[in-house]
Amino acid sequence: MLFLSEDGFKRLLNGLVSSRNVIAPVEANGYFDFKTIKHAGEAFLDYSNTRLPPKRFFLPQREIVFKHDPKTGVLHEPALGSEAVLLGVRPCDASALSVLDNILLKPPNPDPLYESRRRSITVISLSCAKPREECFCNVFETGPVRGSGEDITLTRITGGLLVEVRSGRGQILIDGFASLFEEAGAQHLEKYEELSRRLTKEMSSRIEIARERLVRLEETLDEKFFQNEAQKCVECSLCSFACPVCYCFDTEDHLEKNVYVRAKGWDTCASPVFTRMASGLDPRPSKVDRFCHRFCHKLSRIPMAFNAYGCVGCGRCVSLCPAGVDIREVLKRWG
Ligand code: SF4
Ligand code: SF4
Repeated sequence: MLFLSEDGFKRLLNGLVSSRNVIAPVEANGYFDFKTIKHAGEAFLDYSNTRLPPKRFFLPQREIVFKHDPKTGVLHEPALGSEAVLLGVRPCDASALSVLDNILLKPPNPDPLYESRRRSITVISLSCAKPREECFCNVFETGPVRGSGEDITLTRITGGLLVEVRSGRGQILIDGFASLFEEAGAQHLEKYEELSRRLTKEMSSRIEIARERLVRLEETLDEKFFQNEAQKCVECSLCSFACPVCYCFDTEDHLEKNVYVRAKGWDTCASPVFTRMASGLDPRPSKVDRFCHRFCHKLSRIPMAFNAYGCVGCGRCVSLCPAGVDIREVLKRWG
């Protein structure tokens, strides 16, 4: 572990902004959101969490997959990801990237566009200062201090920050600013342990999950509970779009000035048309089917197939759902 003084952190931030594309949380219209910043003062690092996760920098809401000109036979593929530093990501959102890595980078068919962005964006996480009531990263051990998908973990302690290098990409960045860092001493590590204990204690969710039970979620489904919950859902899809882990997508082909274009964009399993096929057949025809699918997929099928939960406990779906659907209630019942 390394230690970075507050002054060293300011210099690091200035150095990063003057030499690289830096994406950081900023305040906008009463909310926090990630944005490319032009000067260090724009970064607002003392935030709770952003309304939307930084997922879109890796999986854009809409992107061109390729263009094909039938006249010339030329196939245009999009430019690969450009170098950037994503700074100040909360540990839960950094952990969501490692879940997406398990899914989208799995051989033999990794998603090349996602892969190129993961390679070119260095992710620096920052520990939470005060978890929100709806946060439950403690349940999945995806925060509040340390995540699993970041290149560098920063933890704020009194007098500065503890720095943990988590990847080769992170090491390269640190090497570029080596004079700012010193080896962390025993007093720094003590403060780190103290902070971890305090934050975990402050988290209000006390849900014990047992993987063996969750992977059998579908077999033991309490249909009445899900029917009641599904009645509340207005199928707005907000829970999927705001989720740092949800990765459902749709592709669309169209003609643009006689050039074939294939585009890809976010979609959601909550949508009534998501699984409807051209024949009219739909394996999830009812709202209850779709509602159950969301939870079974996140808590049961993703863990079975990819060895990670499809939820990192960021709490966004809990705070944003207009109908008051709360994934923690599902976990309490089956965890
Ligand atoms: S945010 Fe709530 S109402 Fe909207 S789709 Fe999700 S569960 Fe249903
Ligand atoms: S399911 Fe809800 S709490 Fe879990 S990661 Fe997605 S938005 Fe966050």
